[in-house]
Amino acid sequence: MPEESRCWFCHRTDAEVMAFADVETPRQREILQQRSQVSRLKADFVQSAEGWRKGIPKEFKEFDFKFVTSNADQFKSIRIANGLLGEIADPSKLLGEIADAKKRTVDWLEKAAPILRKEDGEVPGFGALSHFDKADRELLSKMVDQFEAKWRRRIGSDGSRGADPSGYKQGFEGLKLFDGLEFMIAEGTLYYDVQAQLLEMAKRKEIDSKPKRGVGVLLVSGYPPVPLCSVCIDVMGELSSGHIAVEPAVPQQVTAAPAVRS
Ligand SMILES: [Zn+2]
Repeated sequence: MPEESRCWFCHRTDAEVMAFADVETPRQREILQQRSQVSRLKADFVQSAEGWRKGIPKEFKEFDFKFVTSNADQFKSIRIANGLLGEIADPSKLLGEIADAKKRTVDWLEKAAPILRKEDGEVPGFGALSHFDKADRELLSKMVDQFEAKWRRRIGSDGSRGADPSGYKQGFEGLKLFDGLEFMIAEGTLYYDVQAQLLEMAKRKEIDSKPKRGVGVLLVSGYPPVPLCSVCIDVMGELSSGHIAVEPAVPQQVTAAPAVRS
């Protein structure tokens, strides 16, 4: 086993250099902020959903979910016309809130679901899926598949004509207010889970793309090959304004060389 290599200059080990030089990139910070925002919004969403379940007027039971959520404003005048909703302070406010939450979550999910399912295309806000590993793409596709199999409904139509071969219904098709609300709450929750998963993948990708830091065997012109860490190499380069040329040594030419990181 090779002896653990230490930088000839600062005497730090490979692990020490990696820990020291692992600087968070602006993108990494941005992803972390987005991730905590997503968990906060998901918690708010789940809490609001409880209020929607309790607050939805029973008189609206037979209404079509899609109709109600796309015409929330109209329900103020209905209240005045038939007086059915005495105990509800303002049904249009509650329905408007549901419609807004649906817009924030379901609209994106409907666009993204066919892409995630096919593991191909541009995910809104995240770019091309092909940037991610196959295992990651499969995981996202499975999240969509399992959800749709459970509800026997498609989240978003993939645009193909004719009946769905799986026999699934499309989106909110045929759902009355209460069942539609449950489907929407489930979709909204999935939306936050998919966002969190995508951010996790983006974070891993960002970390992998950072230059590798550590101790390697390097050749300084005029000196025998020595183990040097990437931090010291950067400093030397800066101090000498590029006059000291540091080149990676060819490992085979160095006898008794410490392990070289590729
Ligand atoms: Zn060093």
